[in-house]
Amino acid sequence: MKVRINERKCQGFGLCALAAPNLFVVGEFDGYAYIALPKDSAGTDPLSYVRVAAIPHDKLEAAKVAAENCPTHAIEILSEEEP
Ligand code: SF4
Repeated sequence: MKVRINERKCQGFGLCALAAPNLFVVGEFDGYAYIALPKDSAGTDPLSYVRVAAIPHDKLEAAKVAAENCPTHAIEILSEEEP
């Protein structure tokens, strides 16, 4: 599955980062949410901050909880095929 943060809807409340701290962060530089994933599978590289990403299966439940708790419905859970 993929997760997308709609940057036009995100208001930077940070509830996603509280609900799923291993998946979402609020960028210090702009105050809006990002998906934070390790750049390599071992997790040894710094995180890459993106607004759409395929996520590991074990993070799907956390992503769903964050999406349900986002007050602006900015977090979308997508299939792999969706852009
Ligand atoms: S909870 Fe929603 S509005 Fe708040 S920072 Fe996360 S994505 Fe943005």
